[in-house]
Amino acid sequence: MSKEELNENVTEQTSTTGELSSDKLTTSSDPTDIESDPNTDKNLNSAVDKCNNCGKIREDGSSIKLCICGKVSYCDVSCQKQNWKVHKKNCPHYMIQEIPGRGKGLIATRKIPPGTLIIDEPPIIVVDRVSQEKMQNDIFEEFEQLSPEDKRAVLEMHDPAFIHSNKQDIGQITMNQFELRAKVLRIFDVNSLDVCEQAELEIKKTSLHRTISRLNHSCAPNVFWSWKKNDLWKTEKEVRAIREIEKGEEIVASYIADGTSFELRTSRRMKLSKKWTFDCECMVCSLHGTDLKKNEETRMLITKYHNQTSQYAKELDITNAFINAVNKLDCMLKIRNEMLLQLPNAFCDCWELGTVLQSQSKWAVHDKMIRSLEFVSSLFDSDSTLDTNVFQKQASGLAKIIGGSCLYNYEKRDEEISTFSMGIEFSDELGGLPGTA
Ligand SMILES: [Zn+2]
Ligand SMILES: [Zn+2]
Ligand SMILES: [Zn+2]
Repeated sequence: MSKEELNENVTEQTSTTGELSSDKLTTSSDPTDIESDPNTDKNLNSAVDKCNNCGKIREDGSSIKLCICGKVSYCDVSCQKQNWKVHKKNCPHYMIQEIPGRGKGLIATRKIPPGTLIIDEPPIIVVDRVSQEKMQNDIFEEFEQLSPEDKRAVLEMHDPAFIHSNKQDIGQITMNQFELRAKVLRIFDVNSLDVCEQAELEIKKTSLHRTISRLNHSCAPNVFWSWKKNDLWKTEKEVRAIREIEKGEEIVASYIADGTSFELRTSRRMKLSKKWTFDCECMVCSLHGTDLKKNEETRMLITKYHNQTSQYAKELDITNAFINAVNKLDCMLKIRNEMLLQLPNAFCDCWELGTVLQSQSKWAVHDKMIRSLEFVSSLFDSDSTLDTNVFQKQASGLAKIIGGSCLYNYEKRDEEISTFSMGIEFSDELGGLPGTA
């Protein structure tokens, strides 16, 4: 990181830091929380009474400032600047805040570049997806074994039965065992995540996470959550920024993203309200007038080109399949921020179909195809000698940013397509054409 970037980050931090008074510092500090943090800075044990840079102890009336994360404090901006390189590693990219109408959510504490690992978290509860009754027993059993602190964290998560009550102080609520069990199960139902959706890995588990489960939904997410490749049981989850996130922007994931989800607003809202009991008011769902109309038309076109690609590929008309795949890509790029998670696959479709066409010497022979390629060239600033690898480059670049299962799936496809394209150099006899996603 350059000095300018460092300064920029510190300044951004400090402007908010400066708003906190020393009074606030006393009430918002929580020494237990800080001590239990495994990623401690050198001075964390002294809570926030001591400057994390020079070690000066806070005296009454002194103007010591709390970092935006609330975990460390400084005499002044220059102490914070000097310490930023050290503290940066432990200063979370987010803070949990009450968001009007949406319960609690995560807000970015600083500008987050694409690809940044924002959260890396093991589950607090993880159960096998078995029969409903067994699963419910397992959930509550695991809950009962949690520490009081973790129990509290679970009970503070969104409970669909309490949508309209503003604040619930869990300590004030007296619940019998039956009510408590019902509450825990409701919370688990709407806040848990599938551990790993990859069929071939055969992991049928569902998990609840302290921070990740707090992420709100958007149909234009700025992060992607996933299992981690090197975690054997895939219960740990990571959250990565898939595009640049501004300071103060809410960090949002998609609850309904899958490989081919180009749904219109009604169907997205239906899915979301059925399971999570809210009407989506994200930046896409709250579009209206001509903006909404344009967005819905783009999504309808994406679906149309998607279906036509599959249809032509089935009929082995690869030229038309490719043209439709390129048209689909064009539409997706018009609403790029909403399609980031689906784009690697769309690029791979073009790469795969293009590879087949090259092997059949049908690359750039039809007028329609040439027009498609000209369009692609303009899209990626390529020269006229465009080959299919331009799609691979785009897919791989994006998959690396998104990470997790997206990268895993990209690498799987990369291997399939590369093996196929290598094969054609040696033999014309192929075992069959690769399918499209
Ligand atoms: Zn200091
Ligand atoms: Zn901090
Ligand atoms: Zn939405």
